[in-house]
Amino acid sequence: MDCSEPVDDYCEAWQADNLKVPEKIPSTDHFFIAFQIERTYPLIMDINHEEEAEEEFVRVEGTDILAFWEPCPRIEHENLPRGKISSMLSKAGVPLHKQEFMVDRISGRADEIANADYNKDKKVLPMIVSISVVACFCYDTAVC
Ligand SMILES: [Zn+2]
Repeated sequence: MDCSEPVDDYCEAWQADNLKVPEKIPSTDHFFIAFQIERTYPLIMDINHEEEAEEEFVRVEGTDILAFWEPCPRIEHENLPRGKISSMLSKAGVPLHKQEFMVDRISGRADEIANADYNKDKKVLPMIVSISVVACFCYDTAVC
């Protein structure tokens, strides 16, 4: 699929108090961020088979989970620096040109979590980031 085609990429982030956090935790305040990633591959329709032309087929590839510790400085904005978020997304296999709205979403949510009264005395801020991307031409080649 062409990279410029609009597609239903999805990204949401939320605090997850029931997330299983490793026993060894950092000594300063940290986010523990689990990325759940799902990829959807649109199947190219064969235009010679007209009887199938109305149908859409997709293949969904299983969910990967990646986890990261990131320091939380408890500041007003950019508790998770945008460059950090982008590098996590790249490790999760999200092409750069799909990252902008995801970085906004994750950055905003991280700031909410870092500054919530509810989290004032917590050393570990567990967060889930759930992503679903439609694979495009650059998907299996360049993620950089
Ligand atoms: Zn692309």
